[in-house]
Amino acid sequence: MSAPSALLEPLLTWYDEHARDLPWREPSASPWAVLVSEFMLQQTPVPRVLPVWEQWLSRWPTPADLAAEPAGAAVRAWGRLGYPRRALRLHAAATAIVAEHGGEVPSTYDALLALPGVGDYTAAAVASFAYRRRHVVLDTNVRRVLARTVAGVEFPARSVTRAERDLAAGLLPADGPTAATWAVATMELGATVCVAAGPRCLDCPVADLCAWREAGYPAYDGPPRRGQTYDGTDRQCRGRLLAVLRDSHGPVHRTRLDEAWAASEQRARCLASLLHDGLVVQVSEDTFALP
Ligand code: SF4
Repeated sequence: MSAPSALLEPLLTWYDEHARDLPWREPSASPWAVLVSEFMLQQTPVPRVLPVWEQWLSRWPTPADLAAEPAGAAVRAWGRLGYPRRALRLHAAATAIVAEHGGEVPSTYDALLALPGVGDYTAAAVASFAYRRRHVVLDTNVRRVLARTVAGVEFPARSVTRAERDLAAGLLPADGPTAATWAVATMELGATVCVAAGPRCLDCPVADLCAWREAGYPAYDGPPRRGQTYDGTDRQCRGRLLAVLRDSHGPVHRTRLDEAWAASEQRARCLASLLHDGLVVQVSEDTFALP
């Protein structure tokens, strides 16, 4: 195992020179802009998030602007980012920010965590990136970088372990602003260089310190990793049904949904789940709309 603290300087220098120019990382980005980016980036890659984030911020530059509109407007604007419950949760978070925090995104981890739809990762990320506070920020990219460089394995465990959290806490620089840069730098390395398949070790600023590389890249031998199949899944079916409603200005008849997905049993199940999640409302026996 390498001396973990040795990772800090080369990673910070590399980040300074190679970080992607992303608008939510600009010093002028508001905490709300950072919060919106974190909701969108949770399960969607940067290139798909960028245009939707820009439209979102230009239409709703503050939480109060979003909270003033119905939740359906958020679902419509979410477009094809996927996992659309995030749109409802972001709307609910904006509403809570207005009701409980005077319209300002709170700055502490605990207050952020209390917002609807905000979990440990998002609370830590917003406190860190928007307010430069010192927090352990563990997303899949950071976890993979630490697994490889420090633990010497290709991938981390399926869910965050206590040992992993302790390791990340031990690596965290003492002052808030440096800790925040460290967090975003490890995230960036995982997103652009130390990627899941085919890491670019020749371009890596910590290659000399990487335990997995030094061990000769031993193959992953943990439990099966989650697949990315999408075709034919309920997720794809829900996306199709929602797209029909999003592309329509008013309620749509059930027959239009029938045309969007052929398998009737799966279609019925997915429509029921969209109604249950509050992403769709039933207007009459045979018509449906966004909330
Ligand atoms: S040397 Fe390769 S595997 Fe190790 S951290 Fe760098 S990119 Fe990842």
